[in-house]
This record gives sequence, C-alpha cells and structure tokens, in this order.
Amino acid sequence: MPDIGIVGAGVAGLHLGLLLRRHDLPVTLYSDRSPRQLAAGRLTATIAHHAPTLRREESLGVDFWPADEFGYTCHHHYVGGPQPLRFRGDFTRPSSAVDYRLYLPALADAYQERGGELRVGRLAADDLTVLADRHDLLVVAAGRGAFTSLFPRREADSPYREPQRRLCAGLYHGVAPAEPKGVTLSISPGHGELVEIPILSHAGHVTALLFESVPGGDLDVLSDLSHDADPALFLRTVLDRLATHHPDVFARIDPAGFRLTGPLDLLQGSVVPTVRADHARLPNGRYALAVGDAHTVVDPIVGQGANSASHSAWVVGEAIRDGLALDELFCREVAQRRADVVLGAARWSNLMVQPPPEHLLQLLAAMAGNQAAADEFTDNFGHPDRQWRILATPERTHAFLARHDAGPAPRDPDAAAREPR
Ligand SMILES: Cc1cc2nc3c(=O)[nH]c(=O)nc-3n(C[C@H](O)[C@H](O)[C@H](O)COP(=O)(O)OP(=O)(O)OC[C@H]3O[C@@H](n4cnc5c(N)ncnc54)[C@H](O)[C@@H]3O)c2cc1C
Repeated sequence: MPDIGIVGAGVAGLHLGLLLRRHDLPVTLYSDRSPRQLAAGRLTATIAHHAPTLRREESLGVDFWPADEFGYTCHHHYVGGPQPLRFRGDFTRPSSAVDYRLYLPALADAYQERGGELRVGRLAADDLTVLADRHDLLVVAAGRGAFTSLFPRREADSPYREPQRRLCAGLYHGVAPAEPKGVTLSISPGHGELVEIPILSHAGHVTALLFESVPGGDLDVLSDLSHDADPALFLRTVLDRLATHHPDVFARIDPAGFRLTGPLDLLQGSVVPTVRADHARLPNGRYALAVGDAHTVVDPIVGQGANSASHSAWVVGEAIRDGLALDELFCREVAQRRADVVLGAARWSNLMVQPPPEHLLQLLAAMAGNQAAADEFTDNFGHPDRQWRILATPERTHAFLARHDAGPAPRDPDAAAREPR
C-alpha cells in the first residue's frame, strides 16, 4: 500500500487527502497553518466552485453546503462601452461560493475524522528530501509561493512575467443579490473587470466584489488604498469606481449599508500567471508531483484556479489508486491526464487578461443575442478544456457561433477604441 505525503492543506491537498482516505491509503498532510489559524485569518480568495468540483465534493461526502440551497444558477454579463452589452448565461447545474475560511477547516476536520494525519509546521525545500524517505510519493500542493525552485517555470505555457491584473477582493454588506441569484461579470474596457459573487461567509450570505484592475487604469487605485487607514475613504472610492465602471452592480448597492463584513475580509495583491513542471526527481530517487497552484497559477479573472486544483488532485488520486508504481512514468501519465483541463484553464485565463482579440469581442456580442451560445459559454466555466476549444482561434469561435446559428457579429467600429492599452 503506497504511503503518500502531501505538502499543503488547501483545496488541492485536502481533496487529494480525502480521496486517498476513501481508498484507505495512508496519507499525511503537512501545512504551515492549522485549520483554526486559517479560519481566524485574512480572506484568502473569493472562490466559486463549479459543477464538476461540486460533484467531487458529493462523492467525497464533503458537500456540507449543497449548491441547490447555497449556490447560484447563472452569470449576468455587462460589457461597458458606447452601447453596453447585457446578457445572461445559465448553468445546467448550479455553482456555489463558500468562504475558504469556513470551507477548508470543515474539510480538514472530515479528513482527520477519516484517519488522515495532519502535521502543522512550515517546510523548506530541504525538508522534502527528508520526507521523501518517509513517503513513497510526495505531492506538493503548497500554493503559488512555495517550492518554486523544485518545479521550473514552463516558458511555452507562461507568457507573462508580470501580473496582468491588480486585485482587490472584499466581502461586503449592502449589495442586493442579482436576480436570479448569480455571479455578475462586468467589464470596463481598458480598465478591468469586476466579478461579483454571492458567497457564504462567517457573516452569512454576503457579496464578494473582486476588482480585476488593469495596471495603470482608473480602477488600479483600489489595489493600494488602505481600508484600515481610512475606511470611509476606501468605501467612497469603491462606490465611486463602481458607479463609473460597473453601473449594473452599483445600481444594487445601498450606499448607507455598504461596508466590509469585517476588517480581515479584504485582500489586495496580484498573481503572475505561471505554469510549472509537473514533477521533480528527489535525491533518493523518489518523485514529487506538483498539484494546484504549485503547478499552475492563473489570474482569477474567470475563476479557474481552485476548480483546476481540485481536478488535478482527483486525477492524481485516481492514478495512485490504479497505478503499479510511483515512478517517472506515473508522473508523466498524470501530467497527460490532467493537461486538457489544467492547461485549458490557464490558456483561457491568459486570453481573458489580454486586450480582447476580435473573435472574443464577436463572441461577446453574439452571445448577447443568442441564449444557447451564452448558456454553453457559461456552463463551460466548469469545463475549461471545452471553453478553450471554442476560444483558441478565431476559426473555432466562428464555428461555435455557426453551430448556434449566431454567426460572427459584424465588426463593431468602436471595438478598437475599447481595447485596453
Ligand atoms: C481573489 C481571488 C479569487 C479567486 N477566485 C477563484 C474562483 O472563483 N474560482 C477558482 O477556481 N479559483 C479562484 N481563485 C484561485 C484559488 O484561490 C487558487 O487557485 C486555489 O486556492 C489554489 O489551491 P491550492 O490548494 O493549490 O493552494 P493554496 O490554497 O494556496 O494552499 C496551499 C497550502 O499550502 C500551505 N503551505 C504553503 N507553504 C507551505 C510551506 N512552506 N510548508 C507547509 N505548508 C505550506 C498553505 O498553508 C496552504 O494550506 C482565486 C484566487 C484569488 C486570489
């Protein structure tokens, strides 16, 4: 029976740990933070799970917040410009967002109740050499900052050296939910996007606002402005930028009740989208496999990182269950099996942070008049491999639109003016 060590107790590490325990395999999770520390800490992200991830949770018996009750069913789109576009896309099965400070500790409890071992302590790269003698395989699921020297960046899949968006994510009171309950994806051409998510947190059903600001644009200020230094100025600035750039969300806000749900419920920063090597050979001849953000960091513009991490964890868990050996061939098979989804998520996210190419603008315009196309695009948030097959080239997008009888929209003469930078 192989003994597995997992470094990192985020969604990747916990989904894998729970899956391995379901197969009665011995597994140890190593994390620099205890579940209680995570629960009491700062907002880590504003994460929506889509249907395939929710199905994995059901199958693991950790669907503690069923999507039928806690989830949402659609995306509302707003694309600003001289003639704004508005349309809605429906999911075939709901998505759902639960604050990870509630979600991950609950999963960590379930993992330990099912016999999984959890050790708390910060590990350095040298520690992996020691752990490699203790476990038949090390899975590195330690997120985007750690152990990067072990898994070199894959240049061909990592087009950016700098963040393409600056992030300001917060949980707020005072925003009435969209009707029907759903995520709003609002684009302010040249300045960035807003992802507004109905989310369950320690404060109950609240609203996550994730500003994805183009560096140097009018929304960029939100990523630097200190809420602690001057809460009133911070909130005034957020409201002002919402009114100018994201009017559909602004229209649902009660300015008198608009406030953060707590002083720790704000996250400002950025990520550099990066794909890293799938595996590394350790000095004792055993292997370390990168999973989740340790393998692929994507900008959260289309909410793919955690869903991709869960998919990747699942592929690894099933491969361990079915595998004959945990050698290099095993690592290569894992890489192959997860590539479609994981690289699809990375390529799609990378496309969305670029100045939009013409075929993406055509797709957005066409979806505003074609419900079936909008629904398929929306459902594909759970299937980034399928989404990338539609978006990879103009020819593919045109074929998708033709399949929906939507045809490429005639060129919009204002499109070039709306392209950022
Ligand atoms: C604002 C924002 C919004 C997002 N929205 C979405 C979304 O809607 N949908 C989506 O799918 N994704 C979203 N993401 C991305 C998502 O948060 C990540 O892709 C996902 O959480 C990665 O999970 P992970 O398990 O790989 O890593 P992490 O969650 O980073 O977990 C890493 C674990 O490793 C531990 N660790 C780190 N270093 C060490 C060390 N040296 N020793 C021991 N342990 C260590 C950490 O404590 C943690 O337990 C968003 C991200 C951000 C920033």
